[in-house]
Amino acid sequence: MGYEPNELPTALSRDIVIEDTNFISNDKYRAELLCTFVLLKIMKEHKSGFVTIIGNPNVGKSTLMNAWVGERLSIITSKAQTTRHRILGIINGEDFQLILSDTPGVIQPNYQMQNSMMDFVKGAIEDADALIYMIEIGETKMKDNILFSRIKKLKIPLIVLINKIDKSNQDDLKISIKHWKNKLPDAEIYPLSALTGFYIEEVFKHLIEKLPIAPPYYPKDQLTDKPERFFVNESIREQILEHYDKEIPYAVEVMTESFEENEKIIHIRSLIYVERQTQKGILIGHKGSAIKKVGIGARLTLQSFFGKKVNIELFVKVNKNWRNSSSQLKRFGYQN
Ligand code: GDP
Ligand code: MG
Repeated sequence: MGYEPNELPTALSRDIVIEDTNFISNDKYRAELLCTFVLLKIMKEHKSGFVTIIGNPNVGKSTLMNAWVGERLSIITSKAQTTRHRILGIINGEDFQLILSDTPGVIQPNYQMQNSMMDFVKGAIEDADALIYMIEIGETKMKDNILFSRIKKLKIPLIVLINKIDKSNQDDLKISIKHWKNKLPDAEIYPLSALTGFYIEEVFKHLIEKLPIAPPYYPKDQLTDKPERFFVNESIREQILEHYDKEIPYAVEVMTESFEENEKIIHIRSLIYVERQTQKGILIGHKGSAIKKVGIGARLTLQSFFGKKVNIELFVKVNKNWRNSSSQLKRFGYQN
């Protein structure tokens, strides 16, 4: 039975103890070996990194990000300054994770909110493993010279994308490529059309090659860093950009107060802030006719985004001069 002559028979049999220990340590050893192997394999083959898209307003940055992610994460309109925040779009593959940052268009700031928007751009450049500078065909310069000199000095790979070639021709494209090759000799330059999808897959493959070897930063099923309410706010703002002119879309901020989801439907209640009483009147319209269109449009977008029925209640409030108020900008997520 494996007992020494002077051991009491009540003690555990030595054979069993030894066998057990062996069993545990072998198993543990094997598990550790497997973990190391898997980790090494991931480390060796998995690529992961941050890529930031910058450029002047309206060149198609958000269109490209949405096309690559396959979801409408960033709102898109024909108006400038549609994107106000840095929005992450995470693109996952078996052996890569590319974390894209869509950013507000580069402008010379006129008020505090625009300062914050440009801070988002600068922050996104600092974090990047590679930078995409998107231009629209025919464009010859960035709207901020200082920022342009900064990107020239960056040590990370720089990719210039000449977008909207669907509405151009070969001759103009040649001129554009020559112009940008001169201005940014170290950059790789590719023409594409974010809207029609022309050459976007090819550019994506080039990008993956530029990523460092690293494990994923986010869970592989995650698409973005922003919460659901952010997309609600943005969809409402998108409708306002579509339906109103002049200063209204720029004076507006949206805050979703409640987002209640059950199996069948999502109930949403959002506040729309404007800067002045007159803007409130315009936004609501005669007997609420204008704001009703905003609600209907946002509901349709969100129903397809969340894949569920949506019910939205909208309220309009005046919040004087919020675009120049630090406390309000903090509250709306433009400043820390
Ligand atoms: P952003 O301000 O740089 O994010 O630009 P958006 O993605 O919001 O796009 C601005 C406008 O340009 C929208 O009306 C888009 O539909 C349009 N657009 C974007 N990409 C293309 C493209 O490749 N070709 C054409 N013709 N229009 C585009
Ligand atoms: Mg945009």
